[in-house]
Amino acid sequence: MSAGPTASESVRPVSIAIVGAGPGGFYTAAAVLKSGVEAEIDIIDALPTPFGLIRGGVAPDHQSTKGVWRAFARTAEQPQVRYYGNIKVGRDLSVAELRERYDAVVLATGMPLDRKLAIPGADLAGVYGAAAFVGWYNGHPDFRDLDPDLNTPAVCVIGNGNVAIDVTRVLVKTPAEMAASDLADHAAQAIHAAPIRDVYIIGRRGPAQAKFTNKELGEMGELEDCAALVDPAQLPAAVAGEMSDRDRRQREKNLATLRAFPSAPEPAKHKRVHFVFFAQPAAISGAARCEGLRLERTRLEDDRAVGTGETFEIPCGVVVFAVGYRMDSLDGVPSAGRAGTFESRDGRVADGLYVVGWAKRGPSGVIGTNKGDGDLAAEQIRSDITQGREAGTQGRKAGRAALESLLTERQLRWVSFADWQRIDAAEAAAAPEGAPRRKLVRIADMLAVLDRDAGTVTNT
Ligand SMILES: Cc1cc2nc3c(=O)[nH]c(=O)nc-3n(C[C@H](O)[C@H](O)[C@H](O)COP(=O)(O)OP(=O)(O)OC[C@H]3O[C@@H](n4cnc5c(N)ncnc54)[C@H](O)[C@@H]3O)c2cc1C
Repeated sequence: MSAGPTASESVRPVSIAIVGAGPGGFYTAAAVLKSGVEAEIDIIDALPTPFGLIRGGVAPDHQSTKGVWRAFARTAEQPQVRYYGNIKVGRDLSVAELRERYDAVVLATGMPLDRKLAIPGADLAGVYGAAAFVGWYNGHPDFRDLDPDLNTPAVCVIGNGNVAIDVTRVLVKTPAEMAASDLADHAAQAIHAAPIRDVYIIGRRGPAQAKFTNKELGEMGELEDCAALVDPAQLPAAVAGEMSDRDRRQREKNLATLRAFPSAPEPAKHKRVHFVFFAQPAAISGAARCEGLRLERTRLEDDRAVGTGETFEIPCGVVVFAVGYRMDSLDGVPSAGRAGTFESRDGRVADGLYVVGWAKRGPSGVIGTNKGDGDLAAEQIRSDITQGREAGTQGRKAGRAALESLLTERQLRWVSFADWQRIDAAEAAAAPEGAPRRKLVRIADMLAVLDRDAGTVTNT
């Protein structure tokens, strides 16, 4: 039988490590703070920059959506919370090493990889997954060198959700329309120099089944130099089938928006976005690189797309596929399902090990959807710690002090939240007029900001 905690141990705060500084991680930290549990919360992220997909996923021209970072920053500034950026779990230290040192470890690592496009030709040059492509234009260091060849008049974007529509919009907006964004410099240069005239956004199912939110869809009709085109023959007269009132309203709104789009090009606009429904990718053609996308027409059976055997081809030099995400594995943490989420019982992976956010649920919902996971994890931690304390087995691990000595022993350089604020200030100081920041896109350049007293930011 284990001895109960001594007086000094019983007052030691609960040590919690959260792996991943995206919404899942920050909502968990905020919920633990709110729960009243006396805790020391350490948020560890692979990148020097916090906020996960808020920085690296959400579209650069949707700055108001990104504004949620301010609430996360307030959490990071609480005295109980510390940020350890530039530390990748699985590379710099293991989940097992964290579990040895912390009373609770929460995995909030998201779902950073593209699900494969399983069609012939998907490996050709000019074919990119949306996680990589979005990471590239958003200046995520892992994708800085993707260097997509955009020297083509036509691009096909496969997918009918908001990620597909984000990619499409970023490709067709004018430099003036992007002026107030934080599109990374290298991407702005490549996109705005590209001869792209036509972008095809392709859905396997119909317009009523598309997952676009109405705001994002509506934006496509308001672009400065780009017309959104749709074939009226593909638009049903009404939304059919059983569904909730909310779903029906959403689908009807999208149909109404699509009906307002023209069917023929507007001569005054140089670019066009073509909404192509009822078409599934069959193959990508090309000798050395992508030259076209072959599609098979579909029809709906019980809201599902079924191939008809009839095919057609769209000539294009680039295909971006937004068909879903998958997990980056972590040693010793079992994953399951098509997307490979970490296996858990509603967030409990093992004793003292929890999962939240996309790593738990898969890639679905909006930023706020992750809050429920954080609330639940905080409640699970509180209840497990209380039970463990009563049994005299928990609440006694050294947490932060042990983490710092491990990182120091391994000569790993971590970035604190104050360090991040200096990087943030350097990016803001270098921002072009009207833009919120000029992003640093290489980890070495971010660390260089911390190594010098002042100076101008160069983007490479
Ligand atoms: C392209 C795109 C656009 C989106 N746009 C919107 C939008 O406009 N509005 C909206 O509401 N939602 C949007 N979303 C959804 C939203 O971004 C997600 O719901 C949310 O970011 C998921 O949070 P998360 O914490 O689970 O994962 P993430 O945000 O991905 O955060 C995971 C964090 O974990 C870190 N990490 C990963 N592995 C490790 C490791 N081994 N060690 C240490 N750290 C690690 C990563 O660096 C990252 O910071 C978008 C998503 C995408 C992909």
